[in-house]
Amino acid sequence: MSDVLVIGAGAVGLSAAAAFAHAGFEVELWEKREAPGAAGSTPASRAPSSRAIGIHPPALHALDSIGAADTIAAEAVHVRRAQARVTTRVGAGTAPSLVGTVSFDAVSRRFPFVATLPQHRSEAIIEEAARRAGDAAHGSVTITRGLEVVGIAPDPRGATVRAQASGGRTVQSHARFVVVAEGPNGLSRSRLGVPVAGRAYRDTYLMGDAADTTGDGDEAVVTLSPDGVVESFPLPGGVRRFVAHTPVLLEGARPDTLARLVETRTGHRFDPSTVTMLSTFGVRRRIARRFAVGTRVAIVGDAAHEISPIGGQGMNLGWIDVAELVPVVSAILSGATVEAPSEELAAWSARRRRAAIAAARQAEVNMLVSAPGTAADLRLRALGLGATLRGGGGARLARVYAMGGDPPGVR
Ligand SMILES: Cc1cc2nc3c(=O)[nH]c(=O)nc-3n(C[C@H](O)[C@H](O)[C@H](O)COP(=O)(O)OP(=O)(O)OC[C@H]3O[C@@H](n4cnc5c(N)ncnc54)[C@H](O)[C@@H]3O)c2cc1C
Repeated sequence: MSDVLVIGAGAVGLSAAAAFAHAGFEVELWEKREAPGAAGSTPASRAPSSRAIGIHPPALHALDSIGAADTIAAEAVHVRRAQARVTTRVGAGTAPSLVGTVSFDAVSRRFPFVATLPQHRSEAIIEEAARRAGDAAHGSVTITRGLEVVGIAPDPRGATVRAQASGGRTVQSHARFVVVAEGPNGLSRSRLGVPVAGRAYRDTYLMGDAADTTGDGDEAVVTLSPDGVVESFPLPGGVRRFVAHTPVLLEGARPDTLARLVETRTGHRFDPSTVTMLSTFGVRRRIARRFAVGTRVAIVGDAAHEISPIGGQGMNLGWIDVAELVPVVSAILSGATVEAPSEELAAWSARRRRAAIAAARQAEVNMLVSAPGTAADLRLRALGLGATLRGGGGARLARVYAMGGDPPGVR
């Protein structure tokens, strides 16, 4: 029996294991994959560990409590400015013009930037933080891979979790609290009777990482074009992530396909032979009706809320779910909230659900503003966006994109 059992060792489950151990609990983490960094688990992802790169100030504050923020910030590129550009013509020799810029300098005192780091590096740093949490006065984390959870039964004192190991062996454990961090395709949420509401979008994208020869340095660039948007973000090691809207899901696309899309919309051609990751994805939104079951089970990360990656907030939301959950569970398990434990957890669930809905709406706005359109459409959009950015809207936009900057009370 453990204090806390976490299901799923993705970015969010690993952070939960570390955070609960740092709070002094004995934590078990069960993961179905045999090894870290195996294929991505969302249907959107077609490449191993290729997903999230943007880490926002509130998430860095959340990761600070487990000792991972400084390491992530040290390895990441610090994006302090983003440029919006527009091109009304697609083809050879395209030269987009600048619409405006957004500066992240004022969004946070400690982290005045959006950090970019490939998800597999963030996960490795957080796993290391989880393992370190076993030291000194902290609790402990035991990570077991190759265990697929197949059953979960809550009771007033916790929940019993059943898993299958390779070879068909069944393992069972009772924990005082269970955190479901299985990502969007896990079955525990439905086994717990928690419905989801959502929709699929028509938007599809092709994304890849290639050697950065744009000359854009540490700046993010969003280029609107009649054929759809190209977003690009600097990554450590002189690499840049390119994301291009596509008319359909381009299954089987090659690096050359992405290079051509980027060139005809932005005028810049990257070398397709330098591509280290290529992925095509569609977008959907699925948000659980509640993120807590009784007083002893919480659902976090993509298991609770899957939102469009355009906006780059999904993983960040999950880390903040966890940071806000830990004090609530600590109070429940220490008996400090014997009077009304379910209200505390229900309030956490409602608050995090609102945050997920807000992030999903923001992602929808991003997709709408960057959708394909006629040259006249784009001129209008560029005029509106330019006026907003010049009129002080840039600072507001920076805060929205950076998920509000510093959490309240943080200096
Ligand atoms: C193309 C793309 C780009 C993105 N970019 C960004 C970005 O820039 N910023 C951002 O914040 N987010 C981004 N996201 C979203 C981000 O990748 C996810 O929000 C994040 O991976 C969610 O982490 P998670 O731990 O909740 O789920 P996952 O990463 O899906 O991990 C879930 C884990 O649970 C395990 N598991 C599942 N079922 C079981 C079971 N029954 N038993 C045991 N283990 C189980 C899985 O094997 C997996 O390891 C992007 C997503 C995509 C697709």
